[in-house]
Amino acid sequence: MSTMRPEFVKFIPQALVPGVLYISEQYRTASHLCACGCGEKVVTPLSPADWQLTNLNGRVSLSPSIGNWKYTCRSHYWIRRNEIVWSNTMSAARIARIEERDLLDKARHVEQRNQAKLSLTKPHPPQSIPSDSKPPSFWARLCAAILHFLR
Ligand SMILES: [Zn+2]
Repeated sequence: MSTMRPEFVKFIPQALVPGVLYISEQYRTASHLCACGCGEKVVTPLSPADWQLTNLNGRVSLSPSIGNWKYTCRSHYWIRRNEIVWSNTMSAARIARIEERDLLDKARHVEQRNQAKLSLTKPHPPQSIPSDSKPPSFWARLCAAILHFLR
């Protein structure tokens, strides 16, 4: 997706069409589907503390940029004069951090699987040791009692 078509509405519709930026000036909010195509709904409240919309002859810009960090796609782009400007300013440190976290997640996943495997096999030997050792002592005691009785 490389463009966004602005559509000025009173209410943001429930079902959004990809590539359309719905703008409700009355309710000071805008909404669109993530430009990467993942289907996530991105809501950008319009206020000095949130996003500012500029409209130049029907060509809209939103500032600041739209960073969908909470979505799995982690898209980052600007909407400038109806065009999607993709961010390639993702810092190397941030990429490293994301990769590191992915590796950590993977390591944790492997660890959890190994622990699950261990917990399937481990409990049996410790449990079987006391229950195995009990009968001999019982039989030994019984044998001793019988031998004692026979004597
Ligand atoms: Zn996305």
